[in-house]
Amino acid sequence: MTLAETDPGPQPDTYDPEWVRAKYAHERAKRMRGDAVEQFIEVTAEFSHYADDPYTDYVEREPVDDEVQVLVIGAGLGSLLAAVRLREAGFDDIRLVDKAGDVGGTWYWNRYPGAQCDIESYIYLPLLEELGYLPERKYSFGPEIRQHCVRIAEHYDLYRNSLLQTAVTGMVWDDQARNWTVSTDRGDRITAQIVLVSPGPLSRPKLPGIPGINEFEGHTFHTSRWDYDYTGGSETTELDKLGDKKVGIVGTGATALQCVPHLGKTAGQLYVFQRTPAAVDARNDRLTDPEWASSLQPGWQRERTENFTRMTAGVGADTDLVDDGWTKVSIELTAPAIMKEMERRGGPMTMEEIGDFLFEEDYKSMEEVRDRIASIVTDPETAHALKPWYKRMCKRLSFHDTYLPTFNNDNVKLVDTDGRGIDRLTRDGVVVGDTEYKVDALIFATGFEVGTSYTRRTGFEIVGRDGLKLSEKWSKGPRTVHGLQSHDFPNCFFLGYTQTGISHNYVHSADERARHVAYILGEWAAKDATLVEADELAENEWVQTMRDSTVMGKQFFVDCTPSYLDSEGDTENPDSLLSAGYGGGPVAFFEILEKWRAAGTLDGISLD
Ligand code: NDP
Repeated sequence: MTLAETDPGPQPDTYDPEWVRAKYAHERAKRMRGDAVEQFIEVTAEFSHYADDPYTDYVEREPVDDEVQVLVIGAGLGSLLAAVRLREAGFDDIRLVDKAGDVGGTWYWNRYPGAQCDIESYIYLPLLEELGYLPERKYSFGPEIRQHCVRIAEHYDLYRNSLLQTAVTGMVWDDQARNWTVSTDRGDRITAQIVLVSPGPLSRPKLPGIPGINEFEGHTFHTSRWDYDYTGGSETTELDKLGDKKVGIVGTGATALQCVPHLGKTAGQLYVFQRTPAAVDARNDRLTDPEWASSLQPGWQRERTENFTRMTAGVGADTDLVDDGWTKVSIELTAPAIMKEMERRGGPMTMEEIGDFLFEEDYKSMEEVRDRIASIVTDPETAHALKPWYKRMCKRLSFHDTYLPTFNNDNVKLVDTDGRGIDRLTRDGVVVGDTEYKVDALIFATGFEVGTSYTRRTGFEIVGRDGLKLSEKWSKGPRTVHGLQSHDFPNCFFLGYTQTGISHNYVHSADERARHVAYILGEWAAKDATLVEADELAENEWVQTMRDSTVMGKQFFVDCTPSYLDSEGDTENPDSLLSAGYGGGPVAFFEILEKWRAAGTLDGISLD
């Protein structure tokens, strides 16, 4: 038997690294599947209704046939920031296109009860100083973020000329005219000199590939398209139509943590179907302190944003301005902890010693999480099943204060599938092992497409020079310079997680990218150029840099429980987040961009 197949038995009283490794391997093995990201169902064909917009009535309009200078595909925070930085650089003719009924991207779609940003609001909501706004609390709820997106769009006049409720269906490069022709599902035909493609990192809902998913006759929806008509209530009021309903929810990720307490409050019966427990830590949310707010000095938001990214990237800083669960875990489990330990030992450590030290610190951190579960959840069997067994950073960190207590409610039952997932659906319910759980409604909190190909996630093909399709060029993974531009796809910028430095604060990465694109296009405009394109050589070099830099990260995930971070255990998947994130980390990546701009030579990019 291999290490992974052997159940190492009960947890010893004292730390035993061999036992911990065996336990992690055993738990991982239960969840590993050959089909990796292919296990999920795309929301197309008979499943396409799962992606319908329940929030805005569809408004008919005539097709548009016109020209713009800059077309931005997407209207989420990444797109808004790009448009704002372009406005600041003097660009006026900008059009946003998005299939949603308003701006906001993921915050437009995710209106499930309890939706809240897990990153501090003071660094997640951009442009606070520019707009003179300060969030109500340390962690904003969805409606406040959505409202802030509207505030940005209004302030920077980004609704002007925008096309909402409009999905792009394709874009084709014209090498003679040096522009793109973009088509949409409204029959529009827009020519654009420059296109920014910003699909958002988590924008396409996915469904679990559970046998019988089509047989279930009860009500279903995905959390990113919450059906308040069915549940009653709203984002801010209780779900008042569920009192006589048996509700099931599939998934225990960041989304489920936030909506389960609301379902548990009012549903007649709630079943939470769990495959892998979340490592839920305390949130400690609080209202904004007016005294603190009035003490803020100009430039505070950028300083705080950079400080958080430094702390969480393990680079460290003199002070921890955000001082929350993210920075605490980073201080305990990255470079600052190693430095402290070296000081304690009075000398340097070998790589092996560092590895062993971090592994033990990680175990201690996870023990705190497990002890917390045991102290909150009163039924020992449920508490046991809720305990996660993997390294802390294997999944995105999660924080919530009312998820765990919900399992103390009589109407809430955790159905643990011991890593296997749901066996199948029937006409009336969910089968796990020998038991069928009859439910009236089944809610899929099963996340979003990550790690599938770029064009599958955008939902349309990009055809570059000489008919070259992006899906063909990137069939073995993205090929870019700094994640932003690809040779043979001139005048096109990719704003997303392709080959770039990823901060845990997505908005910080998005803003650095936006500033960089604004700089490049500023040069393009200043030189009266009509073409801006990545050079093939520079692209080859960046692809190699990415390959070299991601080796360590992939190593870290080898014994992790599978998740969307590592394409469900497929660490070699070239489209995975693992392959996409510059391994040197976001701080080093932002420095690369800054130095490149400071050099002023536009190295690796041709303007003509
Ligand atoms: P996730 O992908 O994190 O979670 C999906 C869940 O569905 C997992 O628990 C998964 O189990 C479960 N699942 C999938 N297939 C099956 C199956 N066949 N049977 C049973 N369970 C199954 O999606 P989320 O929507 O929760 O979160 C996605 C990301 O969105 C977060 O990590 C975060 O980055 C972002 N988010 C951010 C928020 C914020 O505050 N900024 C708030 C909410 C989400 P398993 O764990 O075993 O794979």
